[in-house]
Amino acid sequence: MLRVNNLNVSIDNKEILNDFDLEVNPGEIHAIMGPNGVGKSTLSRVLMGDSNYKVNNGEIIFLGKNISKMSVDERARLGIFIAYQHPQEIEGVSNVDFLKEALKSKTDSPINLYEFAKETEKLTDKLKLNKNMLYRNINTGFSGGEKKKNEILQMRLLKPKLIILDEIDSGLDVDSLKVVSTNVLEYIKENKDTSIIIITHYPRILEYIKPDFVHILKAGKIVKTSDVSLAFQIEKEGFENIGTNDIKENK
Ligand code: ADP
Ligand code: MG
Repeated sequence: MLRVNNLNVSIDNKEILNDFDLEVNPGEIHAIMGPNGVGKSTLSRVLMGDSNYKVNNGEIIFLGKNISKMSVDERARLGIFIAYQHPQEIEGVSNVDFLKEALKSKTDSPINLYEFAKETEKLTDKLKLNKNMLYRNINTGFSGGEKKKNEILQMRLLKPKLIILDEIDSGLDVDSLKVVSTNVLEYIKENKDTSIIIITHYPRILEYIKPDFVHILKAGKIVKTSDVSLAFQIEKEGFENIGTNDIKENK
């Protein structure tokens, strides 16, 4: 599904990712954890093709294609989706118009408006979102939890093959976390080969969406990979002692 080789990324001449490698196979769930500011959001934005980040070296292969030079648009059309850590508020564009346009450009075909309305309403129900959120400006005045649920609404509608959840759990109360997780699980049950990268600080979401691998990102690369027990170890012990002695172990 996704293969990242030797990725080197900098911003403002500061190196953030350094010889970063990752392989994600169809249907796999990978969690990426790491201290604040280590480059987790940078990684997700670079995978999506954000041109603010400078890729100095390396390649990103998605579904067998080298997408390293592709635009955000092209990558989205191929099936990569990010739920952003801080979803943007966009004044002047209604949520429903945005969803319609996104879906139109994804599928490159006209939309059956009746089906679209039925589907979006069904999804707002599943996400326990008020239907009037569809008609408000994108994320404008939405609560933290509503913004995160709105990302999942986009996800379910756009039907991506690779989903990147960048701290989807931050700002969610227990009930909303459960709703969001249930929606993600339902989606991958219906779309079996979907792969997920979950960026998080907390094991809680990983109890719902069980990862096959947990990676620790430190100093620009993955320094340790293990199963979900690693997430609980981090919760207890923090990141400080993880990685430095494990680099060899992981090679
Ligand atoms: P994480 O998500 O792991 O907390 P980020 O990827 O957001 O970390 O940030 C990694 C580093 O890159 C931080 O030092 C951050 O300040 C810097 N950085 C990220 N985006 C930008 C940007 N657009 N401009 C300047 N610095 C940035
Ligand atoms: Mg981040």
